[in-house]
Amino acid sequence: MDRIAELNLANGLKQGALRLGHTEFLSGGHADGWVEKGALFSVPQLLEQVASAQAHHIGAAFPEATLLVGAPACGAVLASFVARHLQLPVAYMLTDGSLRWHRMHVPTAGQHAVDVDDLICTGEGAREIVQYLNQEGHHVLGISCWLSRVPLDSLITLEPPPFQTYTVGECPLCQAGQLLTYAGVWE
Ligand SMILES: [Zn+2]
Repeated sequence: MDRIAELNLANGLKQGALRLGHTEFLSGGHADGWVEKGALFSVPQLLEQVASAQAHHIGAAFPEATLLVGAPACGAVLASFVARHLQLPVAYMLTDGSLRWHRMHVPTAGQHAVDVDDLICTGEGAREIVQYLNQEGHHVLGISCWLSRVPLDSLITLEPPPFQTYTVGECPLCQAGQLLTYAGVWE
């Protein structure tokens, strides 16, 4: 665990991003809490602290990176914040409908790309982005995010997930008869 990253993300989470309680995700799973990333994204000074730590991690894990990729809205903002520290170009990947590049930067093939994200819940979106990058002739070095609820190939995170995640059938909170505190969450 990188101490700088740990402190910066922990600080951000303490600013009100952590939501404790029986949670149901739109994607179907249950958990004992979730992270409201808006608490960090709405305060650029806080986002900057986390982005700085994330850049430090990416620079150490993937020093050969030539491109950072982020998906609008929050992922694109974050990718730009992080890229500023690494002095790397960014490209935005539109994920509404079929995946495609935002016209602001369509990178030439052969980039050494890192997918930059904040929170990974099911991993489905990240897997699709990696697949698209490969199809477009790029070499995907890995995925960087703050926290992930699932393991993924070549994934680096700032911290382990602060919550337990369950399938509905296995959720011990449901089994204990606890009502949902948060329903329909899109983390
Ligand atoms: Zn449950």
